[in-house]
Amino acid sequence: MIVADLKPIEDIMSYLEGHKRILLVGCHGCVTVCSAGGQKEVELLADMIELARRVKGQECSITKMTLERQCDPEFLEEEMLEKAKEHDVILSMACGVGVQLVAEKVESGIKVFPAVDTLFMGGVDQKGQWGERCQGCGDCKLPLTGGICPVTRCSKSLLNGPCGGSRDGKCEVNPDIPCGWQMIIDRLEATGCLDNYEKILEPADWSKSFHGGPRKYIRPDMR
Ligand code: SF4
Ligand code: SF4
Repeated sequence: MIVADLKPIEDIMSYLEGHKRILLVGCHGCVTVCSAGGQKEVELLADMIELARRVKGQECSITKMTLERQCDPEFLEEEMLEKAKEHDVILSMACGVGVQLVAEKVESGIKVFPAVDTLFMGGVDQKGQWGERCQGCGDCKLPLTGGICPVTRCSKSLLNGPCGGSRDGKCEVNPDIPCGWQMIIDRLEATGCLDNYEKILEPADWSKSFHGGPRKYIRPDMR
């Protein structure tokens, strides 16, 4: 899932400066799961904005809604685009994908701002804590690395073994995190696949990652 975090309220208030009719839009997708931009957070942020405006003696009217998925134009068209016309500004609590889809689809005169910072693709480590797991490199290495991603879990994204700086299983870049390559080797050993460690991964084709510019995926049956 995509993990995000609410922006500082001061930043959010600066985006809204001078705008009275605010459409605050959450998303029932990933940002609901990580408690950054779901229905509950829409309610809380609306209260914070109203309070901040009241303190300054400034009026505002906030319309609140939470879409099924902001990253899908179908839900924007069904649930939001008409309503958007009655507003000066849209504050989106979706990830950066949702914010951009909204900005692409609404009428050109309406400003669109993000209320959250999109952080990474990750999984739940423990209650209330997520860890990065995948950088969407476009050429998955997991079959050879015991299901542990060297691109993401090694701080230097090394593909053919550790850098040599690891101490007690911790990464030299940050001793608070495990060495990704130590984890990979331990996992290969535990699954009887240590011979994978001898195999050399060819230099990655990074054009399949974000380094190759914005990517597209078309379903095979629709090509
Ligand atoms: S190797 Fe690439 S696709 Fe696979 S988990 Fe890592 S970043 Fe994601
Ligand atoms: S210590 Fe381990 S995780 Fe950190 S950069 Fe070196 S090989 Fe990668």
